[in-house]
Amino acid sequence: MSRITHWVDGRPWGGAPARTGEVYDPATGGVCGHVDFASAADVGAAIGSASKAFQAWRDSSISQRTKVLFAFRELVAANRDKIASVLTAEHGKVLSDAAGEVQRGLEVIEFACGIGHLLKGGFTQNASTKVDVYSVQAPLGVVGVISPFNFPAMVPLWFTPIAIACGNTVVLKPSEKDPSAPTFVAELWTEAGLPDGVMNVVHGDKEAVDALLTHPDVRAISFVGSTPVARYVYETGTSHGKRVQALGGAKNHMVVLPDADLDLAADAAVSAGFGSAGERCMAISTVVAVDPIGDELVEKITSRMAAIRVGDGRRPGCEMGPLVTGVHRDKVVSYLDAGVSAGASLVVDGRDTEVDGPPEGFWLGPTLFDHVTPDMSIYTDEIFGPVLSVVRAPSYPAAVELVNTNPYGNGTAIFTNDGGAAREFQHDVEVGMVGVNVPIPVPVSYYSFGGWKASLFGDAHAYGPDGVRFFTRTKAVTSRWLDPSHGGVNLGFPQL
Ligand code: NAD
Repeated sequence: MSRITHWVDGRPWGGAPARTGEVYDPATGGVCGHVDFASAADVGAAIGSASKAFQAWRDSSISQRTKVLFAFRELVAANRDKIASVLTAEHGKVLSDAAGEVQRGLEVIEFACGIGHLLKGGFTQNASTKVDVYSVQAPLGVVGVISPFNFPAMVPLWFTPIAIACGNTVVLKPSEKDPSAPTFVAELWTEAGLPDGVMNVVHGDKEAVDALLTHPDVRAISFVGSTPVARYVYETGTSHGKRVQALGGAKNHMVVLPDADLDLAADAAVSAGFGSAGERCMAISTVVAVDPIGDELVEKITSRMAAIRVGDGRRPGCEMGPLVTGVHRDKVVSYLDAGVSAGASLVVDGRDTEVDGPPEGFWLGPTLFDHVTPDMSIYTDEIFGPVLSVVRAPSYPAAVELVNTNPYGNGTAIFTNDGGAAREFQHDVEVGMVGVNVPIPVPVSYYSFGGWKASLFGDAHAYGPDGVRFFTRTKAVTSRWLDPSHGGVNLGFPQL
């Protein structure tokens, strides 16, 4: 049974905590550790450490920072399997999926390794006579990162490498449900040569989050989680004078047009609906089958679902693990009854799935509803589990309208063989990330990740160019080196 402590000033930190949380192994249902919960004073101490480290880190050269980033990249790559096994033990996702999560984090570190190029400002020579103007991108100071349970390694890595590369110092508050992987990754930063205090981790719940949101020394907050908390974080953080990006929940639609390759579409729906047990903000939760292909598509999806092997993610051959906690599993299961009562057809009931794991694990197999309508809670709510709904749409315009009237706008996909239809879709759809015959269109690290509408509060998306913009502020410098032939008082604007 492990105890997971905070990581402050380059070392494990914290005395006897007033509060702790239980961490579960979702495949066995047992408690596998206890995590310290930070008080407001603990968070204040971590912010103090980050504040103390800021001046020197801000003044470090780009080449010093790049050296640390390259070393960190190597350490994360070398520890990929270890990080993956910690992820599987506390989150439940299967090992191959956990290794894929680490890979996506590595790609953001690699992007941040190019910080020399990313921080180039503009320069205008002779903007006015003998006057040069240039811009610099300065770091903000201490930044807070608050992450969700579903990507305990990747989501912190969306933000921290870029924040640090830009010269900021960080206090990360990971999810209390699976806190070990982000703590271990913080240790790797120290091993890579990052000065103490630049990267800190505090664990806990709302008390720790509120302390970050209200502390005057925190300049910016990057948050990822559910929409109600994202809205709260955005409103509280901005009202305390902070720059905030708060990525929220999702309800992602995959539109299948009648001309699509239905085998490809069915493969994609099953992979994107049930990968990581549907606990992905980019999971497909709604398949919009445009008439007349609904019956055929449902049949193809159903036959593929029967082959999914559900079980302990550490066991070879298992493709889908348990849900993260018993409470979350029970909440997801409650939607099965809600869907049936509302009149949807329960085509595959995940409660009947055979499982390769102990019965005490937090299991629910892949579930499929057909004939779902937009008024049902299984359509309106983000279920965040292995529950896929098929909505029948009479036409392409009706399908697009369904996507656009949904309050969320994180990801969407269209499956078609018609390039013109695909082009029109990407133009018309009000969603931040769009896939064409790609069900989970997560942008690569040199683009930026983020949704629209209730899936994002704030202006900046995560990582890529938006990440650099978010973690820096611009300073414009106008300079003139005096020329002996030019002088005298001038009360107006500089002459051209
Ligand atoms: P969550 O909102 O419950 O928790 C996220 C973080 O906020 C955690 O660190 C948690 O400790 C903290 N928190 C929880 N309740 C709080 C409160 N009342 N006040 C202050 N802080 C609070 O989310 P989760 O269940 O950990 O993660 C799943 C959610 O995250 C889903 O809605 C999913 O769509 C979303 N998500 C979104 C993205 C994206 O990029 N848009 C990515 C991953 C996950």
